[in-house]
Amino acid sequence: MWQEWVSALVDWLYPPRCPVCKKEVHVHGQWCRPCFSEVSCVREINVVLGKLNYLKGAQTICHYREGVRKLMQRLKFQGRRRYATHLRWLIQQAQDELWVAAPDVLVVPVPLHPKRQQERGYNQVERIFQPWVEEKKLEWCDVLLRVRPTEPQWDLDKEQRRSNLKDAFAVSRPDLVAGRRILLVDDILTTGVTINECAKVLRRAGAESVYALTVASR
Ligand SMILES: [Zn+2]
Repeated sequence: MWQEWVSALVDWLYPPRCPVCKKEVHVHGQWCRPCFSEVSCVREINVVLGKLNYLKGAQTICHYREGVRKLMQRLKFQGRRRYATHLRWLIQQAQDELWVAAPDVLVVPVPLHPKRQQERGYNQVERIFQPWVEEKKLEWCDVLLRVRPTEPQWDLDKEQRRSNLKDAFAVSRPDLVAGRRILLVDDILTTGVTINECAKVLRRAGAESVYALTVASR
C-alpha cells in the first residue's frame, strides 16, 4: 500500500514526460507521439550486404538521430541512467515485429571493456535490455568478455575498425552457448564490425546461430 503512495507522490513531483520535448505523457519511459514517430523505424539489417558473415539475421528499431542520439550520449557519457527506460520503451513498442527475438534465444549483451565499465559504473546495453529480457521471459547470459582494450571507434573507417577489434572478444563459458541460438544485443549498429566480431567468437564457441538486435542504426 505505501509503495503505491510513494509512486503516486513521485509521479506528482516528477510527472512522466517525453524525454525529448518534455511534454507530459502517461507513463515513465514513454515518448510523445510526434517525437516517437520521428525516430521509430523497425527494420531488418541486410547481413549479406553489410558483410556481417557471422550473423544469420539482424534487426534495428530506430534511426540514430534526434532524440535517440541525444539520449544515448547522455546515458553513455553523462551517467544519466534513467534514459535507459526511455530507450527500452522503444523496444517494447517494436516487440511484435522483432522476429530475431525467438522464444528460445539466449540473449547476450555486447560487453564493454572492464576499465570502461568501471569508469561508467554500468554497461548501458544491460541497463536498456535486461529488464525487457526479463519481461519477455527470455534467457539472459552475460558470457562475452573484452579481453583487450580497444580504441574508440568514431574516427576509424571500416578496415581500421576491423583490425582494432580483431581478437578483442572471448566467450567465458562456451558450454553455455554451444548448440544455442544467440541474440546479440547492443545500443547502436554503425558498421556492424563489433557485432560481427562478437558473433564470430560465439560461433567458434559452438553457438548454432547468431542474430542481432540493436536499438538504433545509422
Ligand atoms: Zn516529445
